[in-house]
Amino acid sequence: MKRATWLVLFFLAIASAGWTQTLNNDTSYTVQGATPEREAVLRRQIQAMHPSVLPYRIRFVPHWQYVYAAHMYRLHVPTGMTSRMFTHLDSRSVFIDEDRYAGEDWMGHWMAHELGHLATNSSGEEDAEKTATQYRKRLKDSL
Ligand SMILES: [Zn+2]
Repeated sequence: MKRATWLVLFFLAIASAGWTQTLNNDTSYTVQGATPEREAVLRRQIQAMHPSVLPYRIRFVPHWQYVYAAHMYRLHVPTGMTSRMFTHLDSRSVFIDEDRYAGEDWMGHWMAHELGHLATNSSGEEDAEKTATQYRKRLKDSL
């Protein structure tokens, strides 16, 4: 994508963050470890999905840190799982394995799943997917 397009996305993300804040005080979240471009895309995706519960922070981390964090939170990450994200519900933190990043569609698809965990406050995969389906539809409609 051209640099100018990225800039537009970036400023849209900033503008939309200000807009959502007028609707609800609990709408700010931080994104750590991402390039400004990727952060802008992610924020646009999340805004389009309009989730009922937002994370407090989203962290892109290298694979070893991802494994470490999953271990620390005593999460069972099944082998062969296609998702490379997980959510720690208590701290409303979403971790993304930077080394497995596979593009914007991948990011939107799995972020919908993690937002589903947050919305249902459940670690159940079926609960998360039920909500994620709705979020993915909103994301698709926004494109
Ligand atoms: Zn899950």
